[in-house]
Amino acid sequence: MENGRKLYQKIAEKGFDGAIFLDEVSQHWLTGFASTDGMVLVTGKETLFLTDSRYIEAAQKEVNADVHATLYERSLPETAAKYAAEQGAKRICYDGGKLTVSQLKKLEKAFAGMELADLPGVCEELRRVKTPAEIANIRAAQQITDAAFSHICTVLKRGMTELEVAAELEYFMRKNGADGLAFETIAVSGPKSSLPHGVPGNVVLTENAFLTMDFGARYNGYCSDMTRTVVLGKADEEMRKIYDIVLQAQKAAIAAIRPGVSGKEVDAAARDIITAAGYGKYFGHSTGHSLGLEIHEEPRASVRSADLFVPGQLMTAEPGIYLEGKYGVRIEDLILVTENGCEDLTKSDKTLLEL
Ligand code: ZN
Ligand code: ZN
Repeated sequence: MENGRKLYQKIAEKGFDGAIFLDEVSQHWLTGFASTDGMVLVTGKETLFLTDSRYIEAAQKEVNADVHATLYERSLPETAAKYAAEQGAKRICYDGGKLTVSQLKKLEKAFAGMELADLPGVCEELRRVKTPAEIANIRAAQQITDAAFSHICTVLKRGMTELEVAAELEYFMRKNGADGLAFETIAVSGPKSSLPHGVPGNVVLTENAFLTMDFGARYNGYCSDMTRTVVLGKADEEMRKIYDIVLQAQKAAIAAIRPGVSGKEVDAAARDIITAAGYGKYFGHSTGHSLGLEIHEEPRASVRSADLFVPGQLMTAEPGIYLEGKYGVRIEDLILVTENGCEDLTKSDKTLLEL
């Protein structure tokens, strides 16, 4: 079933007969077409995509089967309201978290006479479970990301800067089919590796120290996400010990992922190992998150998440230990929840690499 029809089913259950989306991500998910402008109106009859002359030709070729792509007239809200009236829609919902106040005011004016109501997170809820086509895109994005890791391991050398490492990863991904980056590449070395979301700088890689690389590609708009921590030179005893704790925690999280398990159980599987080793307070973030058209999507694997995993969801497994002023280690794979358990979409080696 097309995503627009899934959404209609969901809003109809809640008593609505129309839904409006102005944000890029919801529009992409509902139409199968990426653009930076326009509006989507979902009714019982169709998914109407109102766009402009920059996109119309491509949109009409590429949109999902239930989508009618057409040009809008002077005003987007007024065009949408006209179609809604023609199709007999009377109770229209929007996601208030994805509208600006001024957009909402314009909608209220154009849809005067119809009922407008906020239905927060209505698309996100459905986006949690991916279609086979979405999974194929995520799998392809992760394959490019794995290949980029193999590539960087062959070109890493003394004297390189963090920015050069990030640039190499990004160039390789683009050259090998990525249509963009899933997020800003993290490549941090030595003491900076203790910053979970450190920004690569124009600084030479520290020798005999950790280098943490967290990166991902986009493929047809869908994200991948992986982290590897390697050593440029030789690791000492303590570095080996910390790396091994994180690796055992990460493997335990993956082993826990299956349908019916909760996000907090998966988080605990990793966190318990790190805590038992005495490093619990140095693991400040969640064990994992889902992704799709956005790099961070629901559900999460966090201490609070009661969400039960279902087949077709994605989940990262990315515990870490961060010792301020010293170094940090994080290892991240991308996992698909399957009918019987899970599949690790990340194929790169996880043994401690000394390069
Ligand atoms: Zn990551
Ligand atoms: Zn991640």
